[in-house]
Amino acid sequence: MSPTSVSTSTTHHRIAIVGSGFAGLGAAIRLKQAGIENFVVLERIDDVGGTWNVNTYPGCQCDIPSHLYSFSFAPNPGWTRTYSLQPEIWEYLRRVCSEQGIDPHIRFRHEVLVARWDEREQVWRIETSAGELTAEMLVAGPGPLAEPKLPAIDGIDTFGGNLFHSAEWDHEHSLLGKRVAVIGTGASSIQFVPYIQPEVSKLHLFQRTPPWVVPHRDRQTSRAERLLYRVFPPAQRLVRGIVYASRELFVFTLMHPREGSLAERTGRKHLRDQVPDPELRAKLTPRYRIGCKRTLISNDYYPTLGQANVEVVTDSIAAVTPRGIVTSDGVEREVDTIILGTGFHVTDMPVAKWVHGRGGRTLEDVWRGSPQAYLGATVAGFPNMFLLIGPNTGLGHNSIVFMIESQLNYLMDCIAHLDRTGTSVFDVRQEVQERFNEELQRKLDGSVWTSGGCVSWYLDEHGRNSTIWPGSTWPYRRRTRRFDPSDYELRRPRTPRPATPSQAPPIVPMPAPAS
Ligand SMILES: Cc1cc2nc3c(=O)[nH]c(=O)nc-3n(C[C@H](O)[C@H](O)[C@H](O)COP(=O)(O)OP(=O)(O)OC[C@H]3O[C@@H](n4cnc5c(N)ncnc54)[C@H](O)[C@@H]3O)c2cc1C
Repeated sequence: MSPTSVSTSTTHHRIAIVGSGFAGLGAAIRLKQAGIENFVVLERIDDVGGTWNVNTYPGCQCDIPSHLYSFSFAPNPGWTRTYSLQPEIWEYLRRVCSEQGIDPHIRFRHEVLVARWDEREQVWRIETSAGELTAEMLVAGPGPLAEPKLPAIDGIDTFGGNLFHSAEWDHEHSLLGKRVAVIGTGASSIQFVPYIQPEVSKLHLFQRTPPWVVPHRDRQTSRAERLLYRVFPPAQRLVRGIVYASRELFVFTLMHPREGSLAERTGRKHLRDQVPDPELRAKLTPRYRIGCKRTLISNDYYPTLGQANVEVVTDSIAAVTPRGIVTSDGVEREVDTIILGTGFHVTDMPVAKWVHGRGGRTLEDVWRGSPQAYLGATVAGFPNMFLLIGPNTGLGHNSIVFMIESQLNYLMDCIAHLDRTGTSVFDVRQEVQERFNEELQRKLDGSVWTSGGCVSWYLDEHGRNSTIWPGSTWPYRRRTRRFDPSDYELRRPRTPRPATPSQAPPIVPMPAPAS
């Protein structure tokens, strides 16, 4: 079915998907596989891939093995590394998108500016940078790590050299022979620092908190492995299963943190083996329980920090000047370039501002700094909306693609239910959402994220963990297998939906099914 034109300027689709990363593309593929054609993918930039399109910094790589960090329904026997670099992951997503026939559904350079639920007509009214449309269902996958976070440092606007964020790498700007400051020691920094160190004349690494770093198991895959996976796909499925199960073993440490766990001993040994200088080692020794912040993997980060042209600065940054960076001890380090490895807006993501549900309230209005949803997907007061990788679906130990695929099972079962019963509107019951979030927070209590002794981007402005799924991912897969109508207020139109939403009839509540 092609999109229905409802006015000269507005098209109508059954489903509007926002974003074309793993989440948005995954949703589009599952719809297509189910024979649903009336959907559109709105993407603000000019290509697909999300994270793996925009993060082009040197050394950008996944930190979950590729056999698992990819769609289960589109395995890639040809991964050239066990942990792929960004160009290969991006290429994979572009290829899967084309092979699955998603290209014609994508509208590039369509940034969603506002999405408003129209109660009377039971549609989402969506304003994009390239025009307006309506949709019966909004599936938002704008990305958990898609909005670069710039630090609020005095004078940062006055810097006279080149300054950029790791997610907006300036490839026009050569770092050869430059004095460079890197701010932040998170997952991106530890990947690009070893790459740029040999080029630059001086590298000042500004570290607030030393991360836990454990050995990397990355290696090139052999031709024989790749051939085996191509001719005998069950072998790759088996490897995927083993990788999944082995990652799940970390859950125990995360839920029951204790000093000196095996993971911590591995990290401390790695530091001892790779950093002989006791003074530098002291600076790099983590002082919180492993897993409280994302655990990083690298074999070349620590050795890089021991090089003569590298200085690890642990004094806090007081200001940026036109020439460089001043620390709290009054020392100014003059630099040509500042690279911000300062992460992303996670608990304060922009989607919360642009989605308006019942009564015109935004997600930000109802969340008040603490995002909450049911199963990380639906939010009371926001009918017919699905968030992909919404609140408390992030992971510290396993592949987010597993969570995305679980959400897609839920989405598809929801759509099947709507079709079966002629339901047009679903809205999660407030009390169901509240009960679910109380349960989540109870489980998070005592876990490493709340008691591990760190401040991380997993916590929102109220110190509540609104990003991480507590525990094993398997219960999440189980709970998202079926859409349970008793969790929702459901409505259906009195008469079939007309072609033009403006003529939509009033809606009638459906009786709640027995639970
Ligand atoms: C450098 C890096 C490495 C990572 N490595 C791993 C890893 O190894 N394992 C892991 O599990 N996770 C990893 N992650 C997390 C990663 O974000 C997720 O794994 C996954 O890529 C998220 O997919 P997504 O589709 O939800 O979001 P994204 O890939 O961020 O895609 C979101 C898309 O939505 C678009 N968009 C946003 N807002 C709008 C709007 N208003 N209108 C239209 N379009 C919009 C964006 O342009 C983007 O294309 C990593 C993240 C980063 C930044």
